[in-house]
Amino acid sequence: MQFSEVIGQQDVKERLLRQVQENRVPHAMLFTGPEGCGKLAMAVAFANYLLCQNPHDGDSCGTCPACRQIAKMGHPDLHFSFPFIKKSTGTTTCENYISDWKQFISNGYYFGLSDWLEAIGSDNKSAIITEAEGDNIIDKLSIASYSGGYKVMIIWLPERMHDAAANNLLKMLEEPAAKTVFILVSNDTTPILSTILSRTQHMEFQRLSADDIARALQERNGLDRNMAVQVARTAGGSYLNALRYININNESDSYFDEFVNLMRKAYSRDVQGLQQWADDVTKWGRDKQKSFLSYCQNMLRENFIYNFHLPELNYMTDKESDFAKKFSRFINERNIVEFTEAFSRAQRDVEQNVNSKTIFFDFALKTIILIRK
Ligand SMILES: [Zn+2]
Repeated sequence: MQFSEVIGQQDVKERLLRQVQENRVPHAMLFTGPEGCGKLAMAVAFANYLLCQNPHDGDSCGTCPACRQIAKMGHPDLHFSFPFIKKSTGTTTCENYISDWKQFISNGYYFGLSDWLEAIGSDNKSAIITEAEGDNIIDKLSIASYSGGYKVMIIWLPERMHDAAANNLLKMLEEPAAKTVFILVSNDTTPILSTILSRTQHMEFQRLSADDIARALQERNGLDRNMAVQVARTAGGSYLNALRYININNESDSYFDEFVNLMRKAYSRDVQGLQQWADDVTKWGRDKQKSFLSYCQNMLRENFIYNFHLPELNYMTDKESDFAKKFSRFINERNIVEFTEAFSRAQRDVEQNVNSKTIFFDFALKTIILIRK
């Protein structure tokens, strides 16, 4: 995993490289920022850089034995700790899931907790880093470095640590061992012990630019430029959102169809139909609901712009453009702000776990009024 494989985040890359050059790699770092902006990818790339036997030109070489071992997730000095579901009997540590984990991350480093839990056959949101895993981390790091260089422990989502595990971690951070580097990768630092926060060097990741996402979608996912730019604009700075969007639109129930359904039913004041629509959308997982709402906001914006006849500013697929020919006149100066607000409020409510049936039905009803403004 080379730095060149991490999307965007150039300033973070440069900061990390400078620390190595100046020989001041901190023993504990905390990568923070929104989901899907590449924190885990960067953590692995940095670990790879520290372990590479022949780093040059600001990147790991990609070909030395260490780089090859990391590519196969088999480097003995690179360790991972991550949330999982406790087994019903015996102690559970990451070792119980390590082969699933290696298999899972071999598909790429842009994923969310819900993707990982799905991969291990669970939608149980109570996944944690157990007390036993805290001991496991100590055990793993007490063994001497295999290669005589760095040992790196990447802890994905430390906010999910059991208190006892967190206290163990704190002890290790208080008495740092030489050439051992902890990289904590967190979406939300609120639940993390303040004593842990104060002992880590923070690296804040920003949302990715739409340009970086669009480029990645063309290079890695084979999208044409128009589609890539359009998807990137709906992604809210998260490559993960963009990937979810592409995957979902390969399914039969595309966001586009559901957006059209909503608008048609609202226009014809079909309250029963809207109730059914809300029931259907509610069956989706919360991540999918969120990314759908983000898609809807983008469609509103594109349809609003469509009215100005400036095709160079419009990014829509052929299907969407076709729909906009008739639909765009319903999105105008009188309702665009309220419309967008209603969708973004719904998105916030979904994030905060408000009952999604109520959320979707409420704004479906609101759409009846807004669409006639
Ligand atoms: Zn190398």
